[in-house]
Amino acid sequence: MIYRIKQLSYLFIASLSVAGVLYGSDIKVVFSNDAGRIESLKTFEADNVSFVSGTELARLLEAGTFYSEPKKKLDIKFKEWRVKLSAYSSYVLMENLSTDNRLDDILHLPIPVMPSDDDILIPFSAFMTILDVVMPEILSYDEELKTLEIKTALVNITGITIQQKSNGTLIKISTTREFPLDSYRAWINRELGWLYLTIVNGISDSISIVSAPTKGAVVKVIPVQMEESTQLSFKLRGVVEKPEIYQTTDPNQIVISLRTPERITRKQVEDDLLKNSERWLIDTIVLDAGHGGKDPGSIGVTGLKEKDVALDIVKRIGKLIKKKLRVNVVYTRDEDIYVSLEERGKIANRNEGKLFISIHLNSFPKNRNVKGFEVYILRPGKTASAIEVAERENSVLRFDDKTSAERFEQHATEMLILASLTQAAFMSESEDLSGMLEKELKKKISSPSRGVKQAGFFVLVGASMPHAYIEAGFISNRKEEENFKSSKYKQKIAEAVYEGVRKFKHKYEQLILSANGRLN
Ligand SMILES: [Zn+2]
Repeated sequence: MIYRIKQLSYLFIASLSVAGVLYGSDIKVVFSNDAGRIESLKTFEADNVSFVSGTELARLLEAGTFYSEPKKKLDIKFKEWRVKLSAYSSYVLMENLSTDNRLDDILHLPIPVMPSDDDILIPFSAFMTILDVVMPEILSYDEELKTLEIKTALVNITGITIQQKSNGTLIKISTTREFPLDSYRAWINRELGWLYLTIVNGISDSISIVSAPTKGAVVKVIPVQMEESTQLSFKLRGVVEKPEIYQTTDPNQIVISLRTPERITRKQVEDDLLKNSERWLIDTIVLDAGHGGKDPGSIGVTGLKEKDVALDIVKRIGKLIKKKLRVNVVYTRDEDIYVSLEERGKIANRNEGKLFISIHLNSFPKNRNVKGFEVYILRPGKTASAIEVAERENSVLRFDDKTSAERFEQHATEMLILASLTQAAFMSESEDLSGMLEKELKKKISSPSRGVKQAGFFVLVGASMPHAYIEAGFISNRKEEENFKSSKYKQKIAEAVYEGVRKFKHKYEQLILSANGRLN
């Protein structure tokens, strides 16, 4: 919806100073929907104009506020509008927040707003014109009786977004303002499979809450408005751990994090697969050559660099995949340049990769006899707190292979970023893929297999796709370093990886398609 406001006529422009402010008689605020509730709004008089506190007015109207002291600006957020006021200015910026039709307006008040302690004083009568727009048909003001009537119960819980994350489900409840910490509580009735949230003094917009799409562990949302609180009931699917709840202020939200054990997430993803199988066909494969540019990776005794070998192998894999599988290949880098780890993740995301394969070389200079290749799966950790579900990173590294400790440290950050590409739901696919890659490598190259391993990480949020992280051999071992100089040897590695990918793709797509009833 679009509202247009004409500029108010200049009645007068008064230059006001804070010193000239006197206390006036209060404005009576009557809540006709809330029998008996009457509050008063203090006024300040200057040059025969009544000013009120912007923060106090916003509180009574259940609107959110943001005050910037250095700029002496107050933003008031209503359901569909953000109103921006600046001290000493008579211009009011109004931003329409409804996404479909964004239109901003500038309204000219007859007199400027004034600064106060951590607040802005607003000329009340003139501001009513703005309130009529941002809260249509809710307010009426009787100038003679100095009474503001609020006709309907003001919604302060405006909507819900439910997000499925790698390790759980996040429920974000949008509010118009901050609620005191002791005014909301969430708990689960496990027998019945419901999560309840009560918010004291909450009034919910039931239509937008009921119509919010459900995801992950949440099947259904039912809002119940009670006299002094609102209760939101969430029907749950599967097992969830103890809910964690916290509040954010920009934007105003109450967030509930529901951590789910892996297999439940996986079940959810399988349901999604059934619904939309084509999305999951392996049509884009992301190939990631480790290191590059200023970061050489590990360096062999004769000076061979991990970054060069990895790039060479990755390009060979890409060529085979493009030619034989006819799928889209995306390289995180295809030349000797430095690409940050975040950027690698972004590239995979942006291109909607369906498989992610990373090539590295191992190094263990303390014992140059150590040789062999390894395939890694990045396993999400289980003990991260709610905040991490909400997109924070954490790094705890588990490893049991002492000879790998040093290299692990070196690659920890890298693997952590890559962990953002994984999802609990894809662990079994990643295990499958890694197993197939290991089997093919074992067949084709002389380097002994050190097995498929898992490294434990707290999972990050990001793109998710089956992945494998290949350490193709030890560049610190003289024989293996020689191998890595040979085109023939690198081609063998590439062929093995290609073959593993081909088999995985075949099996996986067959599963998806048959699950969707297209085959068999
Ligand atoms: Zn590396």
